[in-house]
Amino acid sequence: MSASRCIRLLVLVCLSALSLSVKAIEPATPMVPNSDPTYQQLRNLSLGSEAVSVNNVNLRRDAATFHLRSGTVCFVAPVQGKVTGAVFVGDGNMILDPRQASERASLKLLTKEDEFSENFNHLVLRFTDGTYEELKKSGGAASGGCDGGLLHDSQNAMRHDRMLKYNLDGRILEGVLGSDPGGLFVAFIHGKRYNGKELLFVDPHGAPNVAPEEVELMTYDENKLGLWTSFHLEDEETKGTALHQGIARIEHQKLDTTIEKNANLQGKASTTLVALQDGIRVIPFSLFPSLRVQSVTAEGGQPLAFIQEDKKDDADFRVILPKALAKGDKLTIITVYGGKEAVVNTGGGNYFPIAREDWYPNGANFSLGEYASYDMTFRIPKNMKIAATGDLVSEQNEGGESVSVWKSGRQPVAGFNFGKFKMQEVKLDKPEYLVQSYANEEPPDVIKSLLHVANEDLPTQGPHMMEGAALGNMSTVPLIKKALAEGQLSVQLYTDYFGPSAYKRLAITQQTSCNYGQSWPELVWIPMCYFYDSTIRHQLGMDWGDRGYWKSVTSHEVAHQWWGHTVGFNSYRDQWMSEGFAEMSASLYLQLIEKNPQKFIGFWNDQRELLLERDKEGWRAIDAGPVTMGYRMSNSRTGEGVTRRLIYPKGAYILHMIRMMMWDRRTGDENFKTTMHDFVQTYTNRAASTEDFKAMVEKHMTQEMDLEGNRKMDWFFNEYVYGTSLPSYKFNYSFDRDPAGDVLFNLKVTQSNVDDKFRMLVPIYLELADGRMVNLGRAHVTGNTSIEQKVPLKGLKDAPKRALLSYYDDVLAAPN
Ligand SMILES: [Zn+2]
Repeated sequence: MSASRCIRLLVLVCLSALSLSVKAIEPATPMVPNSDPTYQQLRNLSLGSEAVSVNNVNLRRDAATFHLRSGTVCFVAPVQGKVTGAVFVGDGNMILDPRQASERASLKLLTKEDEFSENFNHLVLRFTDGTYEELKKSGGAASGGCDGGLLHDSQNAMRHDRMLKYNLDGRILEGVLGSDPGGLFVAFIHGKRYNGKELLFVDPHGAPNVAPEEVELMTYDENKLGLWTSFHLEDEETKGTALHQGIARIEHQKLDTTIEKNANLQGKASTTLVALQDGIRVIPFSLFPSLRVQSVTAEGGQPLAFIQEDKKDDADFRVILPKALAKGDKLTIITVYGGKEAVVNTGGGNYFPIAREDWYPNGANFSLGEYASYDMTFRIPKNMKIAATGDLVSEQNEGGESVSVWKSGRQPVAGFNFGKFKMQEVKLDKPEYLVQSYANEEPPDVIKSLLHVANEDLPTQGPHMMEGAALGNMSTVPLIKKALAEGQLSVQLYTDYFGPSAYKRLAITQQTSCNYGQSWPELVWIPMCYFYDSTIRHQLGMDWGDRGYWKSVTSHEVAHQWWGHTVGFNSYRDQWMSEGFAEMSASLYLQLIEKNPQKFIGFWNDQRELLLERDKEGWRAIDAGPVTMGYRMSNSRTGEGVTRRLIYPKGAYILHMIRMMMWDRRTGDENFKTTMHDFVQTYTNRAASTEDFKAMVEKHMTQEMDLEGNRKMDWFFNEYVYGTSLPSYKFNYSFDRDPAGDVLFNLKVTQSNVDDKFRMLVPIYLELADGRMVNLGRAHVTGNTSIEQKVPLKGLKDAPKRALLSYYDDVLAAPN
């Protein structure tokens, strides 16, 4: 141990002794952030004196095998008797061989090689597992040393690199202080073949970006960025415990939030959580980096140590408990925090809440799959109106503030929107629902607001600047009714098709950013430009959204009340259902509310185009990978926007195809509705996975859909959900008369560009002489083949005008 560290340690020990002695008299002084001595030792870690030489040593971590051919391993200094890192210098190689064919394919797409095999001359390892013991045992006496700069480079990358900013020291502290060291293993691989900035994570608590999955390989090179592969630990997979929930679950949040006129946010959160494992000493949260934690206390007022580094760095918020929790222990942590930038004052009484899921201390691996209850109090400047998630309990002016209290049962996230709003509302009886529409009296400083790019529900192209556009004093208030009507009709339509949502109220609110919309339980944010007509949008340079975006932004966001909130999702693998189903719901709106068949068909054309057009990197979204790869798909190779162009349109198509397969000439959409009602009812207020949805479709599938005779939908899910199939069809037909005088329909359907197992039900439509479009039936085609048939059209006097395949885009296929 170096002398300087001893000194620091002594000082810290003195400080904490001091705070202990005052505690009895006064409310205890809050802890200084990042002052925990063990954390400080990890933060300032350097190489120790221990080293071994290695020769043909294999280190196996799940699907990764490190082969250290020859070289030296130097260990970091121990902290609390635990060695948490090593530097390797020499000649080595890593093979990564995921068990899942789809993950091997994903790696191959990026490396263009069958096997992922990386060579390196040096390696930095960080761990809380048995790596130290394993390397020490297999090593011999060391002759040389290692470059300590390599360790510092890895620390710098984690802390400051724009792509990372992940507090690995805090994560390692969880293992060092906890009674169960855990199996964390992180490798910084200075690869020679693929990239010099590769990172392999094996984290039983869930790897960054891909939790609950534990194994992840990524690059953090700005020019070659991406999550190359990720999957569950083999162990988790075989035990079937793959839906890991992290180390603690938040049960309840009591949030007291004040937002000043200048948008400064001051919050006090009482967060009640339950430990999901034994021996937990450190609890990670997600909190917007510029919201600075001022104090953390336990329920009785005892100050708790916490970690939150500079907002520009690895600012992850973690709380350190004085003693370990056992599985099932309940605890309430009170966090006082505040700062600017989480909300922005955009002028004219408009406020833009930037931090949507982390304006309060939320779960570390936040997803829309974990439900908690909320009690919220908001204090905002008077004359402002707020809309939040939950039920409004009370609202009144107190001094210079408008104070409102909100309460909600289980929901996946909480949020708010406020401003100098005008509001109109309508009460529905069937279903019982209160729909409200909020818009601002004055326009904001839109030019400034357009610079904020968020990643939720981004339209397909980037925002255009509105510089030079003359906005005048355009108020969106007169257009409140438009959003109100669309919201009301959407709620009624989706209740009919999907069954009741978990909510009884919906506030549709205007936000000043034009390039995305978003939905939280009972609250949606609609981009202000939606309220404008296409002429004004053109003037503002916002034409890019004309391909469907502006037409369906409200119906899409309202549909998230069902998809993402009433029914949650646990991981990025299942997010395609949230976005895809919301998009498909918007198609129902066009077809059944607007009653515009051409718009409906145009909608599916647009969706297909999104999937099939090439981006500037030359990729078609449909080829980049299956929808279950979600946001992991976007990387610098396939293009940043690939996921947006994949999971929305293809997810929509998947549900649309199921609807069209279930459609019946006699009962119409009844079977589809029954399926969706059952799905929503079964998964209300909990997360559903892709497999849960598949099982639901199998429960309600028609006889005709049973193409493999096993009451399974594997054929369809393997083709479109887990696969990237895109069949082509050719259709030849003619009409003549049979001897009885009936119209005889001769047809030939040819399926191509698929594998031999590819099966599909291909609907055949007839446009009758009177103009009606009827579904004649479905052809079952397997592999690259043709089927030919002669069908007598009994009772039909006049020959149909024409015959068509998949008139309603019933099958996602290459355009003819
Ligand atoms: Zn969405």
